[in-house]
Formats: sequence, structure tokens, C-alpha cells
Amino acid sequence: MVLLAPIIIALFFYIAWKMYSPGTRDCRWRMNRALNRDGKTYLHCTHCGAEYLSEDGAPPKICVGKADAA
Ligand SMILES: [Zn+2]
Repeated sequence: MVLLAPIIIALFFYIAWKMYSPGTRDCRWRMNRALNRDGKTYLHCTHCGAEYLSEDGAPPKICVGKADAA
């Protein structure tokens, strides 16, 4: 039973981190180079359907679709 304690503690911190990190944990961003505009990379979220034009090709930090809904 003593051996389980570190595992439970680690699991607790993992869940806390998951809950408090604002997030894109459900988002699955896909690039579509055919829809690139003005030198920006077109990204599409297959989870919530959000569309995003990225300056540097990196996916957004937050879910655009969820931000609109809130
Ligand atoms: Zn999304």
C-alpha cells in the first residue's frame, strides 16, 4: 500500500495540471496548405471545427472554437 502513495500523488498532480492548463487538449490541428492566405498557415481543428490562420505555422494556444462559445 505504501508503494501506491507516489503513484496516487503523481496522478493527483497530473489531473490538477490537466484541469488548470487552459487548453487545446481536445483540439487536433491540421494544416491545409491549399488554403494558406497572405503568407499565413491555415490550420483547422478537427475536434471543434475552428479555423485559424497562423503567422508562424504553430497551432494556437487556446481552442478558438471554445473561446467563441464561452
Ligand atoms: Zn478545437
